[in-house]
Amino acid sequence: MDISIVVPLYNEAESLPELEAWIARVMKEHGYSYEILFINDGSTDSSWEVIEDLARNNRSVKGVCFRRNYGKSPALNTGFARAKGDVVITMDADLQDSPDEIPQLYRMITEEKYDLVSGWKQKRYDPLSKTIPTKLFNATARRVSGIHNLHDFNCGLKAYRNKVVKHIEIYGDMHRYIPYLAKNAGFTRIGEKTVHHQARKYGKTKFGLDRFVNGYLDLMTLWFTSKFGGKPMHFFGLLGSLMFLIGLVAVMIVGFGKLWHMHTGAPYQLVTSSPYFYLSLVMMILGTQLFLTGFIGELIARNSSRRNDYEIETEITRDDE
Ligand code: UDP
Ligand code: MG
Repeated sequence: MDISIVVPLYNEAESLPELEAWIARVMKEHGYSYEILFINDGSTDSSWEVIEDLARNNRSVKGVCFRRNYGKSPALNTGFARAKGDVVITMDADLQDSPDEIPQLYRMITEEKYDLVSGWKQKRYDPLSKTIPTKLFNATARRVSGIHNLHDFNCGLKAYRNKVVKHIEIYGDMHRYIPYLAKNAGFTRIGEKTVHHQARKYGKTKFGLDRFVNGYLDLMTLWFTSKFGGKPMHFFGLLGSLMFLIGLVAVMIVGFGKLWHMHTGAPYQLVTSSPYFYLSLVMMILGTQLFLTGFIGELIARNSSRRNDYEIETEITRDDE
């Protein structure tokens, strides 16, 4: 099969028939063999009935229906697990992404050998309250992830080599950072294609402004886990030891300073009347706690069932040994 199209959806009943007809038309024009995987993320409208209808008339239509609403990432993950096509395309169900982009995306994966191609809604039809924070969001994501050539991390329209979607796991709200996840899994040929964008025709957006707060927190999590997830002591241990040492040296200066003054007969105070004494104590206590956090982190990391899971590309073996 050439193409799997994964469409996560939540209450998009009005858009679905148009979307399916449009995809089917593009697929037919180019003669691709394909499947459309509609992942109904616990819609409370008639989305699932619409999908059942579509599936009756088109054998390429498949569907999964969640019992309740889990979110876009779980929906995508479920679609990815089922996708059989050589190239996997994801798109939103709200008709904001155009199926006309699919042939070009398909070509970039199969001929230009990209692992992942992300859409870039260069000209967006969204309210300003969304486009401005989005610019900031993408600039941060570029810096933290080190993927400098992407302008639009969270674009719903993306294309993948099948292997990529089978080797990344999207959970929580991590769909915003799929390129980063792919990069961490060793898929580094990441490209971008400008795509047409349209204003939402039916229904309304499913994400509010809290997406930017959550998105930021998720980015920190990803950065941290990809850098120190397997070796937490390298982060906490270093920070903790440094703080402890600075505190120790400082408290010794305060203590010996007093002893020196006593020895030379100069006027002296109680160590507890010096603010430096308390600052040093705080440093030593925080340092110890950070160090112990790293230690506990190591114990947890050592227990992870995936601590020795590596992405092996190829291998040379001899059967006769
Ligand atoms: N979506 C989903 N589950 C959710 C929220 C959204 O499957 O809990 C789907 C939604 O139906 C749409 C896509 O994710 O197909 C993108 O959502 P939306 O268009 O609301 O996001 P926006 O375009 O505003 O970023
Ligand atoms: Mg949308």
